[in-house]
Order: sequence, then C-alpha cells, then structure tokens
Amino acid sequence: MHYDYDLFVIGAGSGGVRAARMAAGYGARVAIAEERFLGGTCVNAGCIPKKLFSYAAHVREDFEDARGFGWNVGTLNFEWERLRENKDREIARLNEVYQRLLEAAGVRLLRGRARVLGPHRVQVGERDYTAGHLLVATGAHAVVPPIPGAELGITSDAAFFLPSLPKRALVVGGGYIAVEFASIFNGLGVDTTLAYRGPHLLRGFDDDVRQFLAGEMEKKGIRILFNTRVLALQAGASGRRKVCFGDGTEEVFDLVLFATGRAPSSRGFGLEQTGVKLADNGAIMVDEAFRSSVPSIYALGDVIDRLKLTPVAIHEAMAFAQTHFGASARRMDYENVPTAVFSHPSVGTVGLTEAQARERYCRVEVYASAFRPLKLTLTPRQERTFIKLVVDGVTDRVLGVHMVGPEAGEVVQGFAVAIKGGATKALFDATVGIHPTVAEELVSLRQKRAAPEEMGDL
Ligand code: NDP
Repeated sequence: MHYDYDLFVIGAGSGGVRAARMAAGYGARVAIAEERFLGGTCVNAGCIPKKLFSYAAHVREDFEDARGFGWNVGTLNFEWERLRENKDREIARLNEVYQRLLEAAGVRLLRGRARVLGPHRVQVGERDYTAGHLLVATGAHAVVPPIPGAELGITSDAAFFLPSLPKRALVVGGGYIAVEFASIFNGLGVDTTLAYRGPHLLRGFDDDVRQFLAGEMEKKGIRILFNTRVLALQAGASGRRKVCFGDGTEEVFDLVLFATGRAPSSRGFGLEQTGVKLADNGAIMVDEAFRSSVPSIYALGDVIDRLKLTPVAIHEAMAFAQTHFGASARRMDYENVPTAVFSHPSVGTVGLTEAQARERYCRVEVYASAFRPLKLTLTPRQERTFIKLVVDGVTDRVLGVHMVGPEAGEVVQGFAVAIKGGATKALFDATVGIHPTVAEELVSLRQKRAAPEEMGDL
C-alpha cells in the first residue's frame, strides 16, 4: 500500500521534532503536525523560559553578594515586563530555529490540530494524510486538584506570561515545578509561600536532599507549609484569592500557582477510537520499540509517562527513529538518568537514592558532607552546599551521586558519565580534584557515614 508519508508525527515538541528530523535523515518521508508553538513545553512554557527566569532570580543574590567583594551597587529595582519581553523574544527566535531545522531535514510541517482517523490516517485542517507509521508525541498538560475555586489559580503555563508579578504568592505542590517557581518568585522579590500535602519536598529524591533543600529554601525566605492541603479558593477584593487550608485557616494571596503534576495529553484527538490502549492516567502504553497496542501507532515522550524529562524524550526519539528507519534496533536505557531541579539552591542527582540502594543491596555505604562554599565566605549569605555518594559496599560501585548547591546540574552531569560507566569509589578517590571548586568535594569524601543501625538516636 502506498502512503503519503512513511512517518507522521503529531506534536512538534522535543521528542516529536527529534524523531521527525532523525527519521528524515534516514531517508523516510516525514510530516509533523503542530497546533501551537514549535518546541513544545520545554521551549515555550518549561525548561528554557524557567531557566531564564531562574537566572534572573539569582541576580538579586549576586547584587547582595557584591558588597562583600568590594562593589557598591546603587538602588536595585526589577522590571518584570522587561524580563518577560526579553524571554518572549528569545523563545520566538528558538521557534524559528526549530522551524529551520525541520525544513533543513526535509520534514513537512503542518500547522494545525491533528486528528487520528485510523491506524494509518490523520486529519489536519481540511485534509487527510496517510502514513506507514504514526508517532504520537503530544506531551503532557498541567493538572489541578478538583477543589472548589481551582479555576481561580493558575498553572505554570500562565506563570510564564504573567502581566505583572504578584506581591504575595502561594505555590501548591512539592515537586519540580513547585520548588522551581517558589524559588523564582522568592528571588524576584515576591513574598512566597509553598504549601505541600506531604512531609518533605521532592518525593522520589534522596531523603537527605529533600530535607536539606527545604532548609535552604526557608533560609532564603520561602515559607514552606508541610502536611498542608488546600481545600478551596475564593475570589477576594482586587483580584486577590482567599485560600482555605485543611487546618481551617484562611489566607489571602495575589496569586495561587498549582504545580500539582502533569498528565499525558492522549485524549481528544481520536486516539481512543483507534483502540490504542491507555493506562488509567492516560499514558499511552507502548513496548520497548515505542509501539502501542495498534501496530502502526507509536508514542514517546511525556505522553508515555516514563520519565517526563526533555533529554529522555530526545533519547527515546533517537532510539525510535534508528529502530524503525535506521539500520539497526536501539533500545532506550532508562538506567542512571541524571536530573536537576532548578530550585534555589539547585539539586542535581544521578543513580539511586540511599533508600533505593538499601532496598536493592545488602551493604550500602554513604559518604556525605555539608559545607559553606568558598564563594560565600566574603558575603553575609549562610547558604550551605550538600553532597552525597551512595556506594555498594560489596563491589565498591558508586550507585548514586546527589548534590544540593549552586550549579548542581552542571556538576552532576559530568559525574553521570562516571556512574553510567560503573565507576567505583576507589576510582573517585583516585581522581585528582580541581581546586578550589565545589565539585572537587565529590572526589574528596573519605569519611563513611555510620550505617543507620549504628547511628542510634540522633
Ligand atoms: P511532580 O510530579 O514533580 O510534582 C507534583 C506535585 O504535586 C507533588 O508534590 C505531588 O504530591 C503534588 N500533588 C499532586 N496531586 C496533588 C493534589 N491533588 N493536591 C495537592 N498536591 C498534589 O510534577 P510537576 O508538576 O512539578 O512537574 C511535572 C513533571 O515535569 C516532573 O515530574 C518532571 O518530570 C518534569 N519537570 C522537570 C523539570 C526539570 O527537569 N528541572 C522541571 C519541571 C518539570 P505527592 O508527591 O504527594 O504526590
């Protein structure tokens, strides 16, 4: 049977664009449909603008630190509109870069909402297209708790385009987006409260990291309410929001940001009718080769809900394209995926947490240290940095590297290569540090922490 295209991609985000470009590079005839902006969440309302805002929020501390280094800085004032407009300009440039990349790869770009009509048929606008393979790379969308008045809050989508900064903000949630936006608001001078239903931030991360980060965020002036549920929002005077908390208290904020998770965007464009199997949360169920229950329909990225990270979607896309259009099959490796949370201070991590390691290995050794980095010694800032290695005591392999501190993502990215390569603690010890850096501490840890059973009452 002759199809219009070999591959039809729905969604031009990180995963979709990479799959389209690579498949085209292997000689496939490829089309990609996108109803909104090229680059998806990461470029338009995620990683990139978030990091730009995070830089902006750090600048305030740089000004504060300047005095200790001999600089006198005049009166500070911050213009949100200028930051937002500059960010918008950069994102528009990136949108064009993505378009040029697709064009250069010979991918046909269709602007409009795609509707799946069958295993090999997609509609965009008035036209139908056929393709040998359909790839769904539609990402995920923010979800808000089903509470009265939830529509009075915003999600991160709107947070990137706020007309003005609030004076007083409530961030609901304790995951990546909650701690990142709480840090951005706080750094930009917003009186910030974070309300989280659990006892520690960042579920899934190493417990020491979770506690350490919360302490440092509080030092910077973020008020964190743990074990706190938001029951309802009500409209107050002058656009304010009255928030009713689970303990019966009420407070007024200028802005409430829900950072309460993201769900796969798999519904509402015809996929269900083709018989593609979805998990309860909407994730498209796929096998190792990203094939759904309908053999010609594939999916990757946030919509399959494995690891919702841009570089993971990109790796999945490369594995998909090579497997189906290249010369050989390639499996996605989800082991030891490093990640960073751009909170202030930031978190970088790769490998197992101490708790995960203790579940899987009988003898686990832990090396950890907290210290005040050299850069801060001439400033009044009391921020501390935390580093931790989790080691298999039998093989000496380093199972996990964890850090809370400035540029944690930059530091841990390099160590991730070592962890991926199976580095041992002895290899860390044999590596000469670069002095004076924060990263050198990770190759200088000599003092083993007492095992929990030896620690007694702390
Ligand atoms: P996360 O899953 O990281 O966090 C969601 C948070 O909301 C959790 O603390 C969760 O609590 C809480 N929550 C969920 N449902 C409710 C509810 N009904 N009421 C109150 N609280 C609730 O999601 P995010 O939205 O922060 O981010 C989505 C994903 O995007 C991340 O998981 C990550 O994979 C990716 N991302 C990556 C970034 C990076 O690489 N730096 C940056 C931003 C996002 P609990 O833990 O108790 O379930």
